[in-house]
Amino acid sequence: MQHHDLLVVGSANADLVIGVERRPAPGETVLGSDLAVHPGGKGANQAVAAARLGARTALLARVGDDAHGRLLLESQRAAGVDTDGILVGGAPTGVALITVDPSGDNSIVVSPGANARLTPEDIRAARDLLGAARVVSVQLEIPLETVAEVVRTLPAGTRLVLNPSPPAPLPAQVLAACDPLVVNEHEARFMLGGSAGQDPQDWARGLLRLGPRSVVITLGAAGALVADDRTDTCARVPSPRVDAVDTTGAGDAFTAALGWRLSLGDDLTTAAGFAVRVGAAAVTGKGAQQSFPTIEELGAA
Ligand code: ADP
Repeated sequence: MQHHDLLVVGSANADLVIGVERRPAPGETVLGSDLAVHPGGKGANQAVAAARLGARTALLARVGDDAHGRLLLESQRAAGVDTDGILVGGAPTGVALITVDPSGDNSIVVSPGANARLTPEDIRAARDLLGAARVVSVQLEIPLETVAEVVRTLPAGTRLVLNPSPPAPLPAQVLAACDPLVVNEHEARFMLGGSAGQDPQDWARGLLRLGPRSVVITLGAAGALVADDRTDTCARVPSPRVDAVDTTGAGDAFTAALGWRLSLGDDLTTAAGFAVRVGAAAVTGKGAQQSFPTIEELGAA
């Protein structure tokens, strides 16, 4: 078994994008632009982001035995991701149907497809892959019971990075394994319920009380906040200033970069200092995976 810096366990989707002048009302048909098809899904995005930076990366995911599945496999391979952990079949590849109106607002329908068929049994069968990674990164576009099985299967000494997106209540055992829990502002507010307030430092304290070992809150152009009681850390990490073109995938690029640097032994603040540069670079280009920087591009940025 090949060793990896980062194993991403998560979703792989085909993003089907059509530009429209306005959205159809019920029963109505509108004409849109030519269809654009992009590889996406949080798991696939993170794996590509890490591999483009030079991380030894693997993806554990499920796609359908169809053209979208082949597109996903091909884009992972092209980025340098180890695709041995990508399972094929059981349902059509997950799809996000995205309409974009002239103001840039998206309306999205997601069909989870094969992502919903990534089962706890699949995780147990991939025990060797989980054991061969220093850091494992998961999100919530796969079943929660599958995420819980990742936590149960994780060998001691393997670090878990979890981004609860889309946000959902997490079992205590899952929360307790997060090191760190990575959230954006929206996810932080969801997890804190009504008790959020306005100050990100309060959010960090509140999130730590939920049980994760450490917390990272991404704050868009303002960068990130990292918190870890074990080292008495609560630090702001500013993002480089850039001209933002498209923020799609910025959080995925950030989390992948963070996980990779943690696998190399960086402390949380140093890893976040690297990750904000990757997130900032990702917002300067259109789309998700196509905007993720290589390590050379990052150096020039
Ligand atoms: P998400 O994409 O999950 O909503 P954020 O918007 O917080 O997450 O962005 C994640 C990271 O991407 C930020 O921590 C930052 O490094 C970078 N980023 C996002 N938006 C901008 C921006 N407008 N300018 C510079 N960096 C940005």
